[in-house]
Amino acid sequence: MSDACIFCRIVSGTIPAALVASNAHAVAFRDVHPQAPSHLLVIPRRHVASLSEATDGGELGALLLLAAEVARAEGLESTGYRVVANTGNDGGQTVHHLHLHVLGGRAMHWPPG
Ligand code: 5GP
Ligand code: ZN
Repeated sequence: MSDACIFCRIVSGTIPAALVASNAHAVAFRDVHPQAPSHLLVIPRRHVASLSEATDGGELGALLLLAAEVARAEGLESTGYRVVANTGNDGGQTVHHLHLHVLGGRAMHWPPG
């Protein structure tokens, strides 16, 4: 855990978040600035700075499975949804703790901005 990291503090419970689900490796909560009717973030419990630093396939698998689980719980399975991992500067990453965005409830555009 990194004391400076806002997502580590959400995992430890020292700052509040609207938690929706978790498993042994990952925690899911609502994005504070939603960009779609459903906008969840799925993060590893451990501090991993970005997808580029990820080394544990089991942990990454747990993130993806939790993303699918929360999408199902949000009722997005039939209409579809998008899972995004912004990585690094050009990827638009602003919080340097690996996270998957799960976005749904409206049609997504392609190519992304
Ligand atoms: P990024 O731009 O790094 O891909 O995404 C970071 C996301 O984290 C943004 O969508 C932002 O709204 C969200 N976020 C930043 N700080 C907080 C926070 O304290 N709580 C929650 N729930 N979301 C946050
Ligand atoms: Zn962290």
